[in-house]
Amino acid sequence: MAEVAKVVIHPNENQSQQNGEGKGNENQVSRHQEVGHKSLLQSDALYQYILETSVYPREPEAMKELRELTAKHPWNIMTTSADEGQFLNMLLKLINAKNTMEIGVYTGYSLLATALALPEDGKILAMDINRENYELGLPVIQKAGVAHKIEFKEGPALPVLDQMLQDEKNHGAFDFIFVDADKDNYINYHKRLIDLVKVGGVIGYDNTLWNGSVVAAEDAPMRKYVKYYRDFVLELNKALAADPTIEICMLPVGDGITLCRRIN
Ligand code: SAM
Ligand code: CA
Repeated sequence: MAEVAKVVIHPNENQSQQNGEGKGNENQVSRHQEVGHKSLLQSDALYQYILETSVYPREPEAMKELRELTAKHPWNIMTTSADEGQFLNMLLKLINAKNTMEIGVYTGYSLLATALALPEDGKILAMDINRENYELGLPVIQKAGVAHKIEFKEGPALPVLDQMLQDEKNHGAFDFIFVDADKDNYINYHKRLIDLVKVGGVIGYDNTLWNGSVVAAEDAPMRKYVKYYRDFVLELNKALAADPTIEICMLPVGDGITLCRRIN
């Protein structure tokens, strides 16, 4: 429970960032709102427009059901947003992913987005320290007819990765890996995942804009968990940008997702 609380995120808390909050930098706020600024997402209304125009009308029934079920759960702020779920689903289809991994499942919204995108014989190795939350969403995943693609492992992910690395056949075996768990371990995950993902495969690290705190001043008021993980996220972002074994692309979807394509 403590570990779960450690990784809580709030998708909606980003809105102030998307408004160009940048604490203490008024110029940035006004520049952000100028026509022609490279980022178009200027308001909550624009985000709602995306959800209502292109996400909700195309959201599979099972994902809607899981989203609504999760909304009633006390830790619902951890869930993947509907627009990010749609993005993951599209990405997996674009790269023809078949063998995938997810670290950090919660009630399974991103897991279901993945499972629905994979072919019938696709596989997801899904890991979480908490089985109870996974089992909350499981009936919806079963009803959607995609549970057979999922192998759920309860427990910390790191030892599982270490064990997998012992077996040569796991090296380069994954087309896609989604990391959405304990942010203080992302660098440790990366060191291992880079050998498990195939050359040309993709690792997605979630929450790399960390509630927008990556650009907040040191003394800016921040929730405790945001402050605690901020330095880990900043370190990760620097490390990924400097890693010659990957190409990267940081997208302002959800709380920020950095896609890493293994190149050697
Ligand atoms: N991807 C999920 C979704 O779409 O709803 C959200 C995942 S939530 C932000 C983070 C999850 O990581 C929690 O369910 C938590 O139990 C799990 N977690 C935390 N530490 C972990 C660890 N060391 N290994 C595996 N899972 C962990
Ligand atoms: Ca997340």
